[in-house]
Amino acid sequence: MAGFGWRVGSKVQRWGRSCLRGFSSHAIPSQLENVGFIGLGNMGSHMARNLITAGYKVTVHDINENSMKKFSDDGIPTKQSPLEVSESSDVVITMLPSSSHVLEVYNGTNGLLGAGSRLGPWLYIDSSTVDPQTSRKISAAISRCHLKENKGYAENPMILDAPVSGGVPAAEAGKLTFMVGGLEEAYLAAKPLLLSMGKRAIYCGGAGNGSAAKICNNMAMAISMLGVSEAFALGQNLGIKASTLTDIFNCSSARCWSSDTYNPVPGVMEGVPSSRNYDGGFTSKLMAKDLDLAMASASGVGFKCPLGSEALEIYRKLSKDGCELKDFSCAFRHYYAGKDEE
Ligand code: NAD
Repeated sequence: MAGFGWRVGSKVQRWGRSCLRGFSSHAIPSQLENVGFIGLGNMGSHMARNLITAGYKVTVHDINENSMKKFSDDGIPTKQSPLEVSESSDVVITMLPSSSHVLEVYNGTNGLLGAGSRLGPWLYIDSSTVDPQTSRKISAAISRCHLKENKGYAENPMILDAPVSGGVPAAEAGKLTFMVGGLEEAYLAAKPLLLSMGKRAIYCGGAGNGSAAKICNNMAMAISMLGVSEAFALGQNLGIKASTLTDIFNCSSARCWSSDTYNPVPGVMEGVPSSRNYDGGFTSKLMAKDLDLAMASASGVGFKCPLGSEALEIYRKLSKDGCELKDFSCAFRHYYAGKDEE
């Protein structure tokens, strides 16, 4: 394994599966103790709080002073720039809206790479949803850098792209799923940290593969949500109630997450956004953003996604027509003119 391991006495133990058996799941390895967290929005604020609860020493930064104040009021150290965060951190996590924000936080003035090529933190984790090309660009920049101080356990700084699935309730409950790209030994080392914010971490391969997994997942989710919404609306036009069709789908070949867990028809299922006027879920605007990333990535490799690009048009239209902050399942009512279940 390249360039990474624990130093035990005079011996460096490579950090692979066998080494992970060595420490208790409750102890925080000192290599992960000081965590910088950048991006304290809907997701990041909960993720940072869960790290604090798990015992990590967290330092935070956001361009929004109000978001930082909520942390400073609780005695959590805040910093005015990504560079300042990196000065006191072993690991830096970013949870930002999109690729341009991530590039700004890494490459901008007083950004994470703003002090030149000798870096303080040995590990960077970007959990924002971005395109794989952006993740790979940042990974290449980090791989050209060196560590400011010899850490013993890491010879070079590393980065993982680790976007999440689960949404705000899962972020709050510490039940996110991380899809992780980068060096496998960095993934194994970061796992205790990730599992303080989530219930699962899945290794996807090299740099950018976590981001690729995330946008593929969301493209499939958008298409399946539109598929069941279209079928439920057609069913209503043909005289079949959506609840009857749901029962049939859920024990037949059309069953999917959009039919059995996140049903888009108001009145069919409780506790989902469709039961509360499509408020409080994954917004149409974010879905359009993720589909945009998927289509840009597809065109970057010359691959055609006809259903993905149609889904993007639909979510763009929904966003333009005033539904940008409604949950993405609102396509049933606002695109297909589906009716509430009586
Ligand atoms: P958000 O807009 O609520 O939060 C982003 C935070 O980043 C804000 O507090 C903003 O002030 C801060 N920020 C922006 N630019 C910055 C900069 N240059 N420096 C420092 N801070 C900066 O977004 P969110 O809902 O928390 O989502 C974050 C990421 O997670 C996105 O990429 C999103 O696609 C992804 N995601 C969101 C959900 C969800 O349900 N909200 C689910 C899965 C994944």
